[in-house]
Amino acid sequence: MNSADDQRTMHLATVGMGSNLGDRETILREAILWLGAQSGNRLRSCSSLYETEPFGKTDQGWFLNCVIRIETSRDLQGFFHGLQEGEDRFGRVRRERWGPRTLDLDLLFFDDAVYSDAELTVPHPGVAVRRFVLEPLCEVAPDLVHPSLGERASSLLGKLTESSRVVCLGRPPVREPY
Ligand code: AMP
Repeated sequence: MNSADDQRTMHLATVGMGSNLGDRETILREAILWLGAQSGNRLRSCSSLYETEPFGKTDQGWFLNCVIRIETSRDLQGFFHGLQEGEDRFGRVRRERWGPRTLDLDLLFFDDAVYSDAELTVPHPGVAVRRFVLEPLCEVAPDLVHPSLGERASSLLGKLTESSRVVCLGRPPVREPY
């Protein structure tokens, strides 16, 4: 980042990523590198990959999921539109709700913003109830406090009753240094 960027207000965005079609690991890696290289963005952390049982619609392949954190000078809407561009760019294929997709990008948190309109709800409503989100989230940000529930990510995971299978593969899709 140059000095002009340094003077802008910076935000920390937390993004959940998933893929269950094609070369899942390569899709996630390329999407992370692309997001981190977009104007105003900088990758700050990346969880391990987690292989996870499909949620909702179970007759499809297992997902690979991870959670990343990106420092950004974009505002909430600008950052979210960048995520949507990333989904389009990496060839999202989705025919049905909860069906297979090459890349799903969910904006989990944007600083401690609490916001909702017709296209965007932050924090993402699924955060507190999905093991495939909370397990990688707790790897990168266990002390993150959910701004509307007032609880740490680690506490939400401890209370979770949803018991779909989630297997940590022990390696991140993108390694430091970022
Ligand atoms: P899904 O494919 O199930 O992740 O849903 C995608 C839809 O959710 C899109 O139409 C988005 O506009 C909407 N959406 C609402 N809030 C969010 C969020 N925090 N992150 C990603 N998508 C969101």
